[in-house]
This record gives sequence, C-alpha cells and structure tokens, in this order.
Amino acid sequence: MDVIDAVAPLRDRVAAARRASRRVGFVPTMGALHLGHARLIERARRECDCVVVSIFVNPLQFDRPEDLRHYPRTLPADFEMCARLGVDVAFAPGTAEMYPADPSCTIQVGRVASHLCGRHRPGHFAGVATVVMKLFQIVQPDRAYFGEKDAQQLAVIRHLVRDFNVPVQVEAVATVREPDGLALSSRNQRLNAEERRLAPALYRALCEARRSVAEGTTDPEPVRRAAVAAVPRHEGLRLEYLELVEPDTMQPVESIDGPVLAAGALWVGSTRLIDNLTCDPPGTGAPAGPVRE
Ligand code: AMP
Repeated sequence: MDVIDAVAPLRDRVAAARRASRRVGFVPTMGALHLGHARLIERARRECDCVVVSIFVNPLQFDRPEDLRHYPRTLPADFEMCARLGVDVAFAPGTAEMYPADPSCTIQVGRVASHLCGRHRPGHFAGVATVVMKLFQIVQPDRAYFGEKDAQQLAVIRHLVRDFNVPVQVEAVATVREPDGLALSSRNQRLNAEERRLAPALYRALCEARRSVAEGTTDPEPVRRAAVAAVPRHEGLRLEYLELVEPDTMQPVESIDGPVLAAGALWVGSTRLIDNLTCDPPGTGAPAGPVRE
C-alpha cells in the first residue's frame, strides 16, 4: 500500500492506475477507522481495481471547535487496517495541503440541508460538500462509497454530483451496528461505560418509528411522538431532533405513503450521535423486523 500525503503524487499514482485501465474506487473518511469504514472499503475492493482511501479530518465541516479538537485521531492503526483490507493508496493530507489558504470558493448546499443536521449544524454540509468536491477533483474516482449511517450526507453528495455533473458513481453502504443496535461511529470512542449503556436509545426510538409506520400509521406526527417518547428520560440524554423525511430531498413528510427516513441526533453526555432507519409502510417494502443490511 502507498501512503501519500500530498496532492501531486496522489494524482500521479491514480493516473498511472487509470492508464492501466483500472477502475478507481474511492472511500473518503475522517479516520479513526472502524468496522463501518471497513465495510465500505471491502465493497470498493470487490468492485474496483484500484482502491483509494482518504483520511482527512476536515476543519471546514466542524461547527464546534472543541469537537474538532477532540475528534479521535488514530493514523497508524488506520493505515494498518487499510493495508489489511488490501487498499492500494491511503491518502492522508495535512490541513495545509488541503487548504493552503482560506478557500475563496466553497459550495453552498440548498434545501437538502435545511433540516436534520443541516438545521442544527450551521455550515456543516457546506464544509462536507466543499471537501468532497475537492477530493473528487483530486482523486477523480469512477466510484465513491458512502455510508447510509450519514443519510443526509449521502443525499447531499448525490445532489452535489447531479448538480455539478461530476462523473462519479455514488454507492451507498448499509449501516454497520453493534449487537445492541448502536451504529458504529468514531465518536463512540468518547463514551464512558454509563454513556455506552445509554447510547442505543436513539436506535430504539428509530425502531419505534419504523414499527409504527409498518403498522400503517400515515400521519407522521404520532409516529414521531411515539419515537420521541421511546427515548428514556435521563439527565445524560438530550434528543436534538427526530424527524421523518423524504429520503431524496430530506424534507419532512406530511403524510406517509411510501418509504420515509426516520433520522435523529441524540446527545449522550457531551457526545453527539446520529442515526437513521428507513421505514416502509405496509405492502411497500421489506417486512418489519431486523434492520435490512
Ligand atoms: P467518517 O469517517 O465518519 O466521515 O465516515 C466516513 C464514511 O464511513 C462515511 O461515508 C460514513 O457514512 C461511513 N460510515 C461511518 N460509520 C458507518 C457505519 N456504522 N456503517 C456504515 N458506514 C459508516
């Protein structure tokens, strides 16, 4: 595996792969890699000839300086995991390489970012869209892999690619969970034992929404209320939002007559966790039961 920290040699390395008519797969990450990231990398490995993984903690997408400061950084272990999974190139640029100067041009994200995390984290998706666009320009992959765990991010990227005619195929990978339902996240490392015990509350609330939709409730408000009520009252837990949205536009639904996304953000102590589940009304999708993976 090649470890590259600068744009020019990365371009040369990928250009050589492309000259050998190799399909380039790309997995952008912020590191602290876990089995969720591994699932994306494995998919890319199966479907592409040359796999590039980027590891870059993007300051532009952090709305709270302390979140950026405390974001877990485990570069040596990340490289080890990448090598074990057969990655061809790990691209780990520093901030000065990605942003030699304050960028004059950034990407604004419209309606798709007006709810959920977009509403609660000002500038977050502008930061995500800007860095992903930069990375697409640098790597120029044929396919790029994103997790459904960050469903609004995935929707933003799909809109970005459509709106700017970026020649990349976006692939979605199902959320990887712990046995108790907690979605794997680099931020889970920050939970203490008591917080870890409380953390699956968000998944359980989303399951409640899914159950209610599967039973045929078409009014989103009672579905939402039942899900919110499923979050235990506990001083260590604060639900930031829980909404039912249309999966492509990420706009709240007025009536449930097709698959909807139940998405939430829960503060567990000082750690903010997000998760989502697709909810299918009766007769439209997979039977209610275990999460589709
Ligand atoms: P991050 O390093 O958190 O920016 O995540 C990098 C990519 O991994 C994003 O596309 C995430 O959606 C994806 N990802 C993170 N956690 C999971 C998970 N538990 N299951 C599937 N994909 C994930």
